[in-house]
Amino acid sequence: MKFFFNSQALLNLPKFGIQIPLTDERIFKICEFLKSKGIQVNGDFESIEIKQEDLERVHSHEYVAKLFGTSDEIKKAVSDTFELISENGEYHRYDPSLATYSLEDLVQKVLFQTKGTMACVQEALKSGECFYLGGGYHHAMSFAGRGFCLINDIVIAARWSQKNLNTKLIWIIDVDAHKGDGTAELTANDPSIRTLSIHMKEGWPLDSKKLGKDGKLNPWFIESDVEIGVSANEENHYLAKLKDGLEKLEALDTARPDLAIIVQGSDPYEKDQLPSSGLLKLSKEQMLQRDLLVYHFLQKRKIPQAYVMAGGYGEYSYEIYCQFLESIL
Ligand SMILES: [Zn+2]
Repeated sequence: MKFFFNSQALLNLPKFGIQIPLTDERIFKICEFLKSKGIQVNGDFESIEIKQEDLERVHSHEYVAKLFGTSDEIKKAVSDTFELISENGEYHRYDPSLATYSLEDLVQKVLFQTKGTMACVQEALKSGECFYLGGGYHHAMSFAGRGFCLINDIVIAARWSQKNLNTKLIWIIDVDAHKGDGTAELTANDPSIRTLSIHMKEGWPLDSKKLGKDGKLNPWFIESDVEIGVSANEENHYLAKLKDGLEKLEALDTARPDLAIIVQGSDPYEKDQLPSSGLLKLSKEQMLQRDLLVYHFLQKRKIPQAYVMAGGYGEYSYEIYCQFLESIL
């Protein structure tokens, strides 16, 4: 397996005055682990170019225009995505006095991060397996950012590879605790990208109203091709549901996919520290079984695997990635 990481891609949210427990600490710990194994991490994304058209293959022209728009438009897009202003107009988990960078700079960071996802996909297609220490912004929708995800690097990289690297059918397997709602919305009418999401059945983002004011289905309820909700206290059925889901994914098409992107959030872990992932509490062993199930399923079928990290909060998140890598390296 190959690895990608570049310290320039680190979001470092506290430097923007944003107080969310998605720290870069887990990435440093994984780097240390890889180093202890004598494994090289590739940090060169320079050969990858990300253009506005790569974004517009995924997001609406209007939304992309905002991200490249005026300072106020960019700040508003970032603030909405990270929910930095509460309904009564006050700052929420945001303190500009603690910021060394402007919210505008965050867009450039996220674009750089996305290059890493593209590089990871390219490498997976070349050598079979690649793990990117970053990426996985699965909540970003066609028309807006959402849930800490400004743009959907996963679908951007998938469509970019279809355009430039001759991939046709792609699977996106999302095992983060939260539903891959942006990914599902973006690919709902696209049979060339098949999505599986296994996630908390209740809680965010599925706890809000199913229908909007106009009576239409809210986009975060759009189902993935294989949609697996897991209720609280149903952890013992998780692995069986995932196995069943992978088989359903395979049965959707006669063609074999050219690539699988795995959105390997570690937030279903019982020691995860984000309150909104608390309705799914898999043990460390169950997390390992989860990751090995996906890995071996794809490996057996010789499907190239590109991993992105997605959610994982607090000081124990790194354990999940390290134990997975330990067991396959
Ligand atoms: Zn998550």
